[in-house]
Amino acid sequence: MIKPDGVHRQLIGEIITRFEQRGLKIVASKFVHLSRERAEEHYQEHTQKDFFDDLVEFITSGPVMAMVLEGADATRQVRSMVGETDPAESAPGTIRGDFGLDLGRNVIHASDHEDPGANEQEIDLFFDSDELIEYDRIDSEWLYEWLRVCLI
Ligand code: ATP
Ligand code: MG
Repeated sequence: MIKPDGVHRQLIGEIITRFEQRGLKIVASKFVHLSRERAEEHYQEHTQKDFFDDLVEFITSGPVMAMVLEGADATRQVRSMVGETDPAESAPGTIRGDFGLDLGRNVIHASDHEDPGANEQEIDLFFDSDELIEYDRIDSEWLYEWLRVCLI
């Protein structure tokens, strides 16, 4: 999910391009202004943290671009492309490392790959099942060796 700072800073295209070029497939997308209720549910694991109110305030302060990306080990790969929670600790080449400087303005959210089920829970929070689109990327045989068909 590209957060309101990423949207306002016109980074949507740049960020989506990175995921597309990596080989990940966009299977759902939604440009939405989160309600307080949905934001609180999304960040419920942080309810007790002292930054919770600021976090909810920020994530509801403008539109976000929510996406579901599919691909081999997608949740872990996306997290590694996103970088560390704090942009100041994120390596150059990662999204937060290239586009952020401040912990509270870290451009993008991604599901936690170390929390099993987090990705599915978040997909359910943002999307109805009929909003997930099934299709094949035309280059999939060039992305995955095991899909390569011998035509001769
Ligand atoms: P996200 O869930 O947004 O993808 P994350 O999983 O890297 O980020 P979390 O620990 O889940 O990090 O924290 C959620 C968000 O809360 C962070 O993205 C950051 O914006 C904010 N945050 C985390 N820790 C702090 C902190 N110590 N002070 C202020 N804000 C924080
Ligand atoms: Mg998190």
